[in-house]
Amino acid sequence: MISIVIPALNEEKLLPDCLRSLRNQDHAGEYEIIVADNGSTDNTADIARQFGARVITCSEEKSVFYARQVGADAASGDIIAQADADTVYPEDWLRRIAEKFASRPEVVAITGRFVYRKSPWWAGCEYFLRRFGNWITSLFGPPVVISGATLAFRRWAFESLNGYRGLTYSADQIGITNRLSKLGKVIYDKDLYVITSSRAVQKPVYVIIRDLFGHLSRWVLFSIREQMRSAHRFTWKTRPRRLATSLLSILVFVVSFSSYGYFSPSSPVFGKVYAEENTKNKVVALTFDDGPNEPYTSQILDILAANNIKATFFVIGKNVELYPDIAKRIIAEGSVLGNHSYSHDANHALTEFGAKDLEKNQETISNTLGVLPYLYRPPHGKKSPWELQAIKKLGMIEVTWSVSANDQHIFAVFGHPTPEIFAREIVKGVDPGAIVLLHDGYGTQHDNAKADRSLTVKTLPLIIAQLKTKGYSFVTVPELLNVPAYIGGIVGALPVSSSAANR
Ligand SMILES: [Zn+2]
Repeated sequence: MISIVIPALNEEKLLPDCLRSLRNQDHAGEYEIIVADNGSTDNTADIARQFGARVITCSEEKSVFYARQVGADAASGDIIAQADADTVYPEDWLRRIAEKFASRPEVVAITGRFVYRKSPWWAGCEYFLRRFGNWITSLFGPPVVISGATLAFRRWAFESLNGYRGLTYSADQIGITNRLSKLGKVIYDKDLYVITSSRAVQKPVYVIIRDLFGHLSRWVLFSIREQMRSAHRFTWKTRPRRLATSLLSILVFVVSFSSYGYFSPSSPVFGKVYAEENTKNKVVALTFDDGPNEPYTSQILDILAANNIKATFFVIGKNVELYPDIAKRIIAEGSVLGNHSYSHDANHALTEFGAKDLEKNQETISNTLGVLPYLYRPPHGKKSPWELQAIKKLGMIEVTWSVSANDQHIFAVFGHPTPEIFAREIVKGVDPGAIVLLHDGYGTQHDNAKADRSLTVKTLPLIIAQLKTKGYSFVTVPELLNVPAYIGGIVGALPVSSSAANR
């Protein structure tokens, strides 16, 4: 008998698919499904019962590990399989688990892998790193990359080790497998895969990387602590394993440190980046990325003019070619124009291409508008050694931001946010010297839903009013950082066409 334990807190949306897939298992033996309801206020419990699951209510403590423990305590199978409500299980999942345990008595736990239902672009890289990590560590001991959504163990082993209780790190993954490995083998089966929702990764990439960085740092600390603890048991037999773990820790640290440098808008790993100004004065710089993009850029300029405020626009070369008059208007009205690359390629920073692309935009802006921007902002805030070298060579500086209610994030959290919510998310992040990221465009696109920046246009007056009430005054990025706006000043006359000047 196998007991599948699923912790659930308000999972009415995703739970039906999960339970349906667990009902459809081709495993011939007996199995039960236990849903440990961790205090849901929606229909989670009813849905679970409809699918024939046993529902155990446990709301004393809001925690996945606690729910997993309560579910496991109620299990009657000799094998317990951990599952997740946002995950779908191939029909051979249970059969594979049962067969492995039956044929290998020395095995106490089996783990597998997950794939995302909707894969982000970097998923392939993640899958590779996971498999690589498990392949290396499996040579010496238990795998390190455990998916909590697909992990099964023998109940006697689990119980004799006190379950998840007292585990302080990654209780339902590394924590429990480390514990179980004292009683037998923990194996990794790459074919024991499950399909998990991508809700964990529907965030801006830099947030994912920041979380990952924190996660990996905790893992490195955990590994070091474990090794110190076992130092007195040092033998030649344990040496290769510990050497491998140490090397892997260093590798992981180097990779995540570089990722942090690449993705995090304020990380100085590859060179100096200006994300805000250190000041006590209540000044703030509003910046707009990805324009010009009509009609929104013009509408934003109208709002700024009505409030007598200047801002900084990081423009894309292709968009300048499309809307040269709007770009001219930005300069003519005293706002500042910065370089945001020529083509806004998502992977611009991975190769030397990014450096060429930003140089090309300097040329485009200079030829079209007669100015050479001093400020560069990389697309998505991703930074690389090539780009930082290029901006040094061109005599520019790199500017990112300290505040953003970045659109992807705000849409993920709030669905369709109102201007009030959007303004609140921005204003609450502003400190003296802040650089605020807003968008008047969406890459080089102009006619799809994402390029529709009417929300920004509606939100801007609220942001301005609320910050004014708090005592803030508005400056351009060059004023904030006390640097020039353009290299060599504004060169030549700026012919502003009548259509742009008369707005
Ligand atoms: Zn951008």
